[in-house]
Amino acid sequence: MNRFEFAKATSVAEARSLKAEKPGSVLKAGGIDLLDHMKEHLVEPPRLVDLKGLPGMKEIKAEADGSLTIGPLVTLDEVVANATVQKTHRALAEACGEAASPQIRNVATIGGNVLQRPRCWYYRLESYKCLKKGGNVCYAIGGENRYHVIFGGGPSYAPHPSNAAVPLVAFGASFTFEGAKGKRTVPAAEFFTLPTVDPQRENGIAADEVLTEIKVPSANGLVSSFQAIRERAAFDWPLVDVAAVLRLDGKTVKEARIVLGAVAPIPWRSKRAEDAIVGKTLDETTLLAAARGAIVGAAPLSDNGYKVSLVQTLVRRTLQSLA
Ligand SMILES: Cc1cc2nc3c(=O)[nH]c(=O)nc-3n(C[C@H](O)[C@H](O)[C@H](O)COP(=O)(O)OP(=O)(O)OC[C@H]3O[C@@H](n4cnc5c(N)ncnc54)[C@H](O)[C@@H]3O)c2cc1C
Repeated sequence: MNRFEFAKATSVAEARSLKAEKPGSVLKAGGIDLLDHMKEHLVEPPRLVDLKGLPGMKEIKAEADGSLTIGPLVTLDEVVANATVQKTHRALAEACGEAASPQIRNVATIGGNVLQRPRCWYYRLESYKCLKKGGNVCYAIGGENRYHVIFGGGPSYAPHPSNAAVPLVAFGASFTFEGAKGKRTVPAAEFFTLPTVDPQRENGIAADEVLTEIKVPSANGLVSSFQAIRERAAFDWPLVDVAAVLRLDGKTVKEARIVLGAVAPIPWRSKRAEDAIVGKTLDETTLLAAARGAIVGAAPLSDNGYKVSLVQTLVRRTLQSLA
């Protein structure tokens, strides 16, 4: 790891200027993903700008209209433990609770979680100059690709890693950023970008921006669930995960949002699965139709065809839990 300065910011403006002062400096929240990058020499910042002291970014506010305002420095554990989130936006609490280990959830922030870089082993190893690092090849094609994407791949095939982003997209959340041009708010569904936009990036945050707020609309009248399948029960990233947010009238589905994680470069909304259940009763036939709908367009690589079956199983299981 390179030698670096550690600077504690006390305001968003100060964080931005401390970062700009020394080119190559980076913002640090919990530091979990950042330190992994530094240990592998993927980034060698001259200065870490610690955001943890920023006021007003460590709270979860339950607003009168049922929406949530979540500070990006709220830890994953604080999301899980929050009684309102558990009650009104259950899939979000479940997704944060399923991420990593208790020790990591105590430190990792929800902002850092949605901004973490992909786990692709070619990207993570210093010795591979892959597309994500400015090279001209994605080693997953023709390489070890069992954990890679089955939807939306090309030219890079690394899957989106964040648990929290999946229900945030399903709930219709938005992110607010502060940068040189002031504040801007972007729907989570538009924030994450495919590798066709730029294979070196996974989202639209600008270099001078700080994520300052996560807004999650009211989920009054909605039910939700997040489920994941991973290789081992201990801490690990999911092989596949699903967030489903439904409005039910008795057993009939009035509205549905189904988002898949770990199978595409972005949280992957499955319109086909949604269309298969809206206006229907959640019985066995409908669940099967949703499972089949969810895999339309899947294009597995040489070693990850098993993810197609996992998507079907998990969509069915998640919807069944809400039926
Ligand atoms: C063993 C292990 C297992 C894991 N399993 C899972 C899992 O199952 N699911 C899952 O989702 N994650 C998993 N993770 C990833 C972990 O949850 C993330 O690394 C963590 O949430 C990142 O949050 P952080 O606060 O530490 O971010 P940091 O490492 O501090 O930051 C991450 C990135 O975001 C930027 N950043 C952070 N906050 C802001 C902000 N407010 N504004 C602008 N930029 C910002 C930083 O500059 C950095 O580039 C796992 C990690 C480990 C080590």
